[in-house]
Amino acid sequence: MTKMKFYSGLKEIGGTVIGVETENAICLFDFGFAYADRLDSKIPLRKGLEAYDYVRLGVLNSIDGIYEPDIAHKLGIKGFGEIDKEIFAIISHMHIDHMGGLGALDQKMPVYMSRESATLYHELGVMDELEIREHENIIPIDYDGSVTVGDITITCVQVDHDVIGACGFMIQTPDGSICYTGDYRYHGYHPEISAAFAQKCKGADVMISEGVTISHNDIDILSLEGPVRENNEHTLLEKMKGFAQDEEGLIVINNYNRNVERIHNFVSVIKEAGRELVLSPVQAEYVAAFYKEDKFSVYVPDGGSVNAPLVRDFPVVTRKDLISDPAKYVLQQDYKDAYELFELADVISVYLHMDGAPLGDYDPSYAKFYSLLNAAGLNVVRCGLGGHAEPYYLRKQVDDIAPRTLIPLHSFRPEQLLSKKAGKIVLPNINDTIVLDKGECFYENNAWSWSYSSK
Ligand SMILES: [Zn+2]
Ligand SMILES: [Zn+2]
Repeated sequence: MTKMKFYSGLKEIGGTVIGVETENAICLFDFGFAYADRLDSKIPLRKGLEAYDYVRLGVLNSIDGIYEPDIAHKLGIKGFGEIDKEIFAIISHMHIDHMGGLGALDQKMPVYMSRESATLYHELGVMDELEIREHENIIPIDYDGSVTVGDITITCVQVDHDVIGACGFMIQTPDGSICYTGDYRYHGYHPEISAAFAQKCKGADVMISEGVTISHNDIDILSLEGPVRENNEHTLLEKMKGFAQDEEGLIVINNYNRNVERIHNFVSVIKEAGRELVLSPVQAEYVAAFYKEDKFSVYVPDGGSVNAPLVRDFPVVTRKDLISDPAKYVLQQDYKDAYELFELADVISVYLHMDGAPLGDYDPSYAKFYSLLNAAGLNVVRCGLGGHAEPYYLRKQVDDIAPRTLIPLHSFRPEQLLSKKAGKIVLPNINDTIVLDKGECFYENNAWSWSYSSK
């Protein structure tokens, strides 16, 4: 009998942690933060006790067999190496709500992710953008590649999302197959990759799906006849080109720096428009890790060397350069460098907020960010795309996979995800255990209070 334990991240966005336990192995996915707003940057985590503090705060889960023994014992649970099953984690992509907790795990615990995610993860460590520390036992898997641990075989299946390396997983157990979508979209550069995911996972016994875009409005998902959104990565690329051609001063973009493919595509359109793309050292490092052929400059306001190993020898653009010829450049900038805008405000003609942090008003920094932009007197245009499939595609993905059991989560209103092709739909609560036996799901105590069908 296989058991699925739902630890967190069910009726909220973030911190999805699920354990799949068979006779001799436990597979855990993903490992980001739930209730991350409980963290306060004014209170530094205690050195060496970070994992303990996170668990006590409820931001990470109290789970046997994954933390260092000393920390685990202090929490009253078993440490890594102290349970009688092989335990490992699989991570769908490098968004903090899916991977932020990795630094808290025992360093020996095996963590599998796509090869591109592993590259990005290492670069996040190089640029000091990881929580706690870089996990030591990361094992990359190729897309469509499989790994078997005990009696669990996992296959890494690529999806299109707004971060490089994103994938979902097919998890094969002796009692049935489980498809986990991770986060995905159909308005990126590669909708065909998300469509191929559905074909590869067709007929899974269980489908665990994200539902971010059905979180707020009332949606009659069964009645949707087709996609409605009109913007996508291709239209954004055109928009970028238009701004680069038409603006008379400096253009600043605040993008999401882990979506390196967007910047890769920007390099050539910005050049065609007669401008030069200038990246922050962090962004430059991430792009260079994947697109070695890309040519761009790195922003070092006062000049000097670039503090990022892969782009150390790239051309440097200084503040003086931007101010003396603003129409020649597009500057990419992360929020943490935003005070620099006060130096450049006089020559900036537009500030494009395109998916960079802070992204929405759920982030406590969002209001502060917009007051800063206002104080700098900038002309701000919002042109973000987001990374999540619109409701029509959320349903279509379930229709195409046609699972025996659908488990929607990663949404404030997961109950809105319905499909006539799903045998039944189950909405677990935190700490529920669902049993998988001969391809069918049952609650451990056999109570079916939360299951229904949309047929
Ligand atoms: Zn997510
Ligand atoms: Zn994501």
